[in-house]
Amino acid sequence: MEDKEFSDFKMERIECPKCGATWLNGQHYWKTGRVGDTKALSNLVCGVAPGPGCINEDHKEGHVYGEADTWQKRAQFINRWYEER
Ligand SMILES: [Zn+2]
Repeated sequence: MEDKEFSDFKMERIECPKCGATWLNGQHYWKTGRVGDTKALSNLVCGVAPGPGCINEDHKEGHVYGEADTWQKRAQFINRWYEER
């Protein structure tokens, strides 16, 4: 009876055939192992190589999530960092 919790435990790992993003039990994780963000993933990964096949549910082709991380924001961050030096 004690080990019921363990026998119910399942690790479901899904990998996007297109961009290689991985989901563990429905949660997206970055390659670094950090908890992911499917909207930032859409901006940074899925949107870079357009076309069908991406399994990211939040990815809409041609759509950029303004509130999530984008390449534009990253470029601005890097530019500011250079200017401040
Ligand atoms: Zn994908």
